[in-house]
Amino acid sequence: VIGGIGYTSYVTYTSRHPMEQLPFDPKKRTVVILGTGWGAISFLRKINTDDYNVVAVSPRNYFLFTPLLPSCTVGTIELRSIMEPVRFITRHKSRNVKFYESECTDIDPESKTISITDVSDVKGAVTNTTIPYDYLVVAIGADNQTFGMAGVREFACFLKEIWDAQKIRTRLMDCIESAGFASQTPEEVDRLLHMVVVGGGPTGVEYAAELHDFLKDDLELWYPELADKLKITLVEALPNVLPMFSSQLIQYTERTFKQNKIEVLTKTMVKEVADKEIKVLDADKNIVSIPYGLLVWATGNCPRPLARKMMARLKHTQTSPRGILVDNYMRVAGANDIYAIGDCTFTKYAPTAQVASQQGNYLASVFDNLARIEEGQDKKITPFEYSHQGSLAYIGSDKAIADLPFLNGNVSVGGVATFVFWRSAYISTQFSFRNKFLVMGDWLKSTVFGRDVSR
Ligand code: FAD
Ligand code: MG
Ligand code: MG
Ligand code: MG
Ligand code: MG
Repeated sequence: VIGGIGYTSYVTYTSRHPMEQLPFDPKKRTVVILGTGWGAISFLRKINTDDYNVVAVSPRNYFLFTPLLPSCTVGTIELRSIMEPVRFITRHKSRNVKFYESECTDIDPESKTISITDVSDVKGAVTNTTIPYDYLVVAIGADNQTFGMAGVREFACFLKEIWDAQKIRTRLMDCIESAGFASQTPEEVDRLLHMVVVGGGPTGVEYAAELHDFLKDDLELWYPELADKLKITLVEALPNVLPMFSSQLIQYTERTFKQNKIEVLTKTMVKEVADKEIKVLDADKNIVSIPYGLLVWATGNCPRPLARKMMARLKHTQTSPRGILVDNYMRVAGANDIYAIGDCTFTKYAPTAQVASQQGNYLASVFDNLARIEEGQDKKITPFEYSHQGSLAYIGSDKAIADLPFLNGNVSVGGVATFVFWRSAYISTQFSFRNKFLVMGDWLKSTVFGRDVSR
């Protein structure tokens, strides 16, 4: 093992810097890809730059390994360990990939151009421009669903991006330190130490689980006078959490949460969000006020403004308010040479990293085949087919659950062994050696020293 790590480190070190890369070739077609998330990065990893000029546009110049983001909110893992610079990913391409850290603000299918805006705090003279494409791949992900409820954006924390995890971590420690403030009133102590999570999907469940671990493993040691007053509540409108898992695993999760004193309020609908409390319609149809210190909002996705703008331009064919409609080849309905993958689309598939990355890989192979066909080779372009590898979620106290397709059936497993599997599955997927190294280091660090409680 040591030898293996040593060798891999050496190879990584020696290949650290970009090779000599081909410049853009005006005779080749240009593919513009929007995004640096799961869909876009899978596409970028696989697209053959011998055939195309590739331009990537995204407001963040890194890929984010979202499945481990909940672990960052309490410091089990550090944020930089699950980020990977896009230039690190494209450095081994045969042709230089142009990356513009900017937001795409408009797509014009008529002139085949996109408008981009520099999102930096330190801008140069040019901050807005348009760039042309021959093919456009839209992989911009989705926005947080707020159901248009006032107060959500203002008072709640989302859990989608790096800054969300940072904000949650800071607020959490603020709540704890303020609850311990000299002569704080008992009601305020209870409010400040009430951590409320809205949304019982995997993100909400995993966040509640991580918070519980932090409480048990660390806060009880560092804040003994406050720790037993900290309360975690999960609010879900549906009759149960994790609807995508088997009923056996749903029950297992609900039992584990009960043991861990995480209160689960199902059939409970949030009606109002204020700075210190939410109002909910509970299972008995009563309006109840729930005071909170920290509110985490994880109720799913809705289309981003850019997606809505593009759909409005194509309104005769783009008729769904839930996302971009595509055909089985990931072609955007009603547009020429525009493709869309991942969470920005509305298809029969769930909005997961698994789906987005398979679509990214698929689309790169489509482009490969298009280039071969153009050369006169006999290639067929087949529709996208999804291969489900199973669903995994961490539920706290070193337990995870997994629904895995197995021999044409399905196995549901939960417990500590599944947790070990969960960790190794995440460590082996789509992650560079550098990130594996960093994440394993973080796990070791938090096991040996505990999580860092500094704000
Ligand atoms: P994203 O990965 O969200 O990427 C979108 C990209 O587009 C980003 O780089 C963004 O900066 C960029 N962008 C946004 N607006 C613009 C614009 N105007 N112009 C250009 N670029 C833009 N899925 C699983 O399968 N397993 C899991 O365990 C899992 N855990 C998760 C945990 C959390 C906390 C979260 C939030 C999600 C999790 N998911 C998981 C879901 C998974 O992350 C998403 O389904 C996946 O990221 C979708 O990929 P995407 O490429 O469509 O979008
Ligand atoms: Mg993407
Ligand atoms: Mg992502
Ligand atoms: Mg910037
Ligand atoms: Mg503080």
